[in-house]
Amino acid sequence: MEANTTNNISSKDSHEESSRSSIVGPLNFAKDTSSLEPPTSLVNERTVPCMFCSNVYDFHSRDNGVDQYLAHLYLVHRLIVGDVKEIACLPSYCYYWRDKFSSEPVDKYCSSMLLNQLPDGTSSSNEKYFLLSDIEPLDYELRQRLKREKLDLVLTRHQFERTDRNYRRDCLYCRDFRSETRPEFISHLYAKHFLLLGKSEHLVFVDELIEIVQDKLNQLICLYCEKVFKDRPTLKEHMRKKGHKRINPDNHYYDRFFLVNYRLKQKPEYVPIAKRKEESSVFNSDDDSDSDWSDWNGEEQTTTCLFCTHSEANIDTLKQHMVDKHSFDFTQTVHGMSFYQRVKVVNFIRRQMHIRKCITCEQQFTDYKSLCEHMDTEEHYRLSKESNGWDQPEYFFPTYEDDQFLCHLEEIDNEEPTTSEEDGSIVISEDLNARINIDAESLSLENFSLQ
Ligand SMILES: [Zn+2]
Ligand SMILES: [Zn+2]
Ligand SMILES: [Zn+2]
Ligand SMILES: [Zn+2]
Ligand SMILES: [Zn+2]
Repeated sequence: MEANTTNNISSKDSHEESSRSSIVGPLNFAKDTSSLEPPTSLVNERTVPCMFCSNVYDFHSRDNGVDQYLAHLYLVHRLIVGDVKEIACLPSYCYYWRDKFSSEPVDKYCSSMLLNQLPDGTSSSNEKYFLLSDIEPLDYELRQRLKREKLDLVLTRHQFERTDRNYRRDCLYCRDFRSETRPEFISHLYAKHFLLLGKSEHLVFVDELIEIVQDKLNQLICLYCEKVFKDRPTLKEHMRKKGHKRINPDNHYYDRFFLVNYRLKQKPEYVPIAKRKEESSVFNSDDDSDSDWSDWNGEEQTTTCLFCTHSEANIDTLKQHMVDKHSFDFTQTVHGMSFYQRVKVVNFIRRQMHIRKCITCEQQFTDYKSLCEHMDTEEHYRLSKESNGWDQPEYFFPTYEDDQFLCHLEEIDNEEPTTSEEDGSIVISEDLNARINIDAESLSLENFSLQ
């Protein structure tokens, strides 16, 4: 079996820094390029050859093809892959190293260790083994890139699922409902049947999720506590009475359906509210500082200015504040942008202000005051035309917990009649329930067979 080198996703290479160009090799996320629909599953590659010999493993097989693969690496080639569950796309990873090892020796990229046993467990002194891990820069780079590619794919899929109008599916419960879009289907389940799967803005791979839910219900299994019931009416009664009409947040099997679990681990860092409050002490220049943080936790949901601590209950008043005080016209800035681009713009500005970097020229300052002086004098309260620094997938995730600004980003331009989203504001900041074990082994489908 030949390593397939023709299907790597290279479309993003143009904006990848050159430091990553040393990584060549197959990334197999979107193998089926004939279909216009973004892939519904993360890894289409089934068969993966050993990094060293001609053995081939079926990663989708029921009898743990991945385990067999890893066992083979250990038993026959004495190689251990470090933190294997954290690799975003194991088949791509394996293909990459197979390619490398075809021309270069193992020692070059692996640390070696001496153990006093043979792979089968019999004792024997000073037996040499290899560890392939992200201590090796190339391995680190590869893992990071796989994660980014995966996030990209997931976001593409998410965007598709939000807008695709061909999701025709009958309701799980009633007869006369047939959806057009996935958000519509999800909100019908909640509005009519009180079945809470999560907000559709937070969900991805919805088709598969619905299949799983359907399957559980058919098998008379409660979604939440996973007990089995004798018939459908008893199950329905149980789920209704116990408030079990939602998926079990402790079951990591569902992690991959929540967007938040694809967050890249590193930057931008996530700033908890408590920390942000501390920071507010440095924002002393504003006149009406007494109205700022005192009511942050109050009943009223206020939105905070992108540039200072000023907050308002009404978003339009706040936008006017930004025009008056900072010469920044948000509405005009994001005109013509998609919902996702708006989210990125907000998170980008928040991030830059947090780390004291100018949003236009990216110049770094040591304190908030000198940053503001610079932005005032240079008229840098605007997005740079030349750089699209804000348009990176990491800015899809909120910089601040519970950022109310993100609830006011609907596309209000009347260019086209908006779709049937009657539910008003779109909230991106995720609820705690959805933040299920971010670092878990959730990141690749094939890993589920290991559990
Ligand atoms: Zn082998
Ligand atoms: Zn229904
Ligand atoms: Zn239950
Ligand atoms: Zn302000
Ligand atoms: Zn600047």
